[in-house]
Amino acid sequence: MCRHLGWLGAEVPVSSLVLDPPHGLRVQSYAPRRQKHCLLNADGWGVGFFDRPSEGGLPRRWRSQAPLWGDVSFDSVAPALRSHCVVAAVRSATVGMPIDVSATAPFTDGQWLLSHNGIVDRAVLPATSSAESVCDSALLAAAIFERGLDALGETIVDVASADPSARLNILAANGSRLLATTWGDTLCILRRADGVVVASEPYDNDSEWEDVPDRHLVEVAADGVTMTPLD
Ligand code: GLN
Repeated sequence: MCRHLGWLGAEVPVSSLVLDPPHGLRVQSYAPRRQKHCLLNADGWGVGFFDRPSEGGLPRRWRSQAPLWGDVSFDSVAPALRSHCVVAAVRSATVGMPIDVSATAPFTDGQWLLSHNGIVDRAVLPATSSAESVCDSALLAAAIFERGLDALGETIVDVASADPSARLNILAANGSRLLATTWGDTLCILRRADGVVVASEPYDNDSEWEDVPDRHLVEVAADGVTMTPLD
């Protein structure tokens, strides 16, 4: 995925994170401001969000291979979708990767939702039968799920040493934790009074957005935000 966004905080309408902001993912699908490696994100979109813990805390996904900017059905329904934990992305497919829903983030193992912004040589990833697609991001997601999200930082460092030209910005959430890595692309954080946004780029011009340095692991949980260098 070329641009992604995560939310952990109060229950809010999904539209308020993805569609309404002046430079949110809908606008980033055709006019990203900080994207380094492609021009626009027209190869699909995905929005994942968690039910309330009291209602089972299940992750749910709505994905499409069409551009987000033209999706009138999502535009109509998104204000009624409310969640405390969201992972959303718009996609610019890497050359040679399939363009279909199964290759579109967020990926899931039933507990976590995960998006990858970047590129990785599929030959360095372990063979797996659990990936949702042959897309590099889906294979990387399967490798991360298999090793466990507590080892996310170690997995990223290992994959990067096997493929030094890989770009490995990950965003993952499980309803109570939001994890992200920077490895080759941009990432920003906005600490709001009602929660924390982690996004590839700011969705508005608020001066409170902070840039995350490259090669870092970010964790957002109930007790705050931590940032750890990865190498
Ligand atoms: N490699 C991934 C894909 O093909 C992600 C691409 C990206 O971040 N632009 O979907």
